[in-house]
This record gives sequence, C-alpha cells and structure tokens, in this order.
Amino acid sequence: MPRFAAGVVRFQNEVYPQKKELFEQLSKGQEPEALFITCSDSRIETAMITQSEPGDLFIVRNAGNIVPPHTSHTGGVTAAIEFAVAALKVPHIVICGHTECGAMKGAMNPEGLNELPHVREWLGYSKAAVEIVNAKGKDLGDQERMKLLLEQNVVLQLQHLKTHPKVAMALATGDVQLHGWVYDIKSGGVTAYDSQEDKFLPVDVRYAAEMAKLASGGCAA
Ligand code: ZN
Repeated sequence: MPRFAAGVVRFQNEVYPQKKELFEQLSKGQEPEALFITCSDSRIETAMITQSEPGDLFIVRNAGNIVPPHTSHTGGVTAAIEFAVAALKVPHIVICGHTECGAMKGAMNPEGLNELPHVREWLGYSKAAVEIVNAKGKDLGDQERMKLLLEQNVVLQLQHLKTHPKVAMALATGDVQLHGWVYDIKSGGVTAYDSQEDKFLPVDVRYAAEMAKLASGGCAA
C-alpha cells in the first residue's frame, strides 16, 4: 500500500497541476459520453485503452462484465444503468469483455467453482452464452471456443441490457447506442460487434465512418 500512497502524492504534485482546469470543471458536475461496463480484471485499464480523460466514462465493473436481466430486484448494476441512462443521459453504452477472462473460464467449467458459490451463481447470467458455444463450437479448439464465449457473452449481456426499462426507452427514442467490445490483453487490440453482420470487427473497421467524421471535425457518433 505505501506504493499507492506514494502514487497519490505524485498525482497531487505532478499530474493534478497539469489538469487543474479539468478537475475544477469536473467538480461542478459530470457529463460522461459513455456508460462503460467491463470486467473487474486488474489488467483492464479503461482510460488507457480508450485514451479518455476523467469525466468521460461512467464505469461499472464486475466479474465477467455481466448485466443481469432486469427484474424488480434492485442490484448495483441495475441502479448504475438506470442512473447513467435516465439521469446522466449517456449517449453510448459499451459492454467490454476481454481475453484471458477468469470469469468466462469459470462459466465454461462451473464444476470448478464449488468453493465460490457466489461466483458460480453470478456466472449463471452467462449460461446462455455457454450453451451457444456448446452448440456451435463442438469442432473448435479450446482457444477458439473461449474466443467465441467471450464474444457471445458480450452479445448476451447487450440483450440483457435491452430488458432494462430506461435503456429500452432510450433505445426507442434513439437517445442511446449500444456497443459490444472485446479487448485483447496480449495484443492491445479491440474488436467491436457489428450487429448487421453479426460478427466482431477490428475497432478501426467497425467505426471507420464515425472516426473519419471525428477526424474531419464533425460530430462523433
Ligand atoms: Zn474478466
């Protein structure tokens, strides 16, 4: 912990002064551009991957980047989604899975989770993705099956997201867009789900049109 305390002191002395105006502005309120739902895995650094600043991303993290389908039961993920969409009015929601995900490995082999009953139950929200992989991935090797599971889990959680009333409402009025990503820890690459083609494409291919518009000074979509 002294390492992190020293880090805070360095932040105050070296980093904060360079961004003083930003932090002062942020003290008045937040207007994040995206709700970013990703895994708790320590190897995912959201600001670094997206090159974003404080105030840009409203972040929800849990084991397996899971969004339980909406029920009348109140949970932390449900409340954060409701707040981000209805109060902060985020225009984008990203669900970002990642390679080497321990949660997805557990979902694939739940018998290994007997000593972790809460993890096992939580990963039940990925069961439909596991079933898809079992049905479609019979002839695939372990690595390909895991890749398919990472992707199918993101697609499944996007479906769960649509069951949340405020998300459904914002989708119906065109006020929010949903995005499914997978981050590759080893290569640093990110693929993004293309719902029309029903497959994951490199992020620069998936967002080529939007990125061109952003580069030319237009409004980013
Ligand atoms: Zn993970």
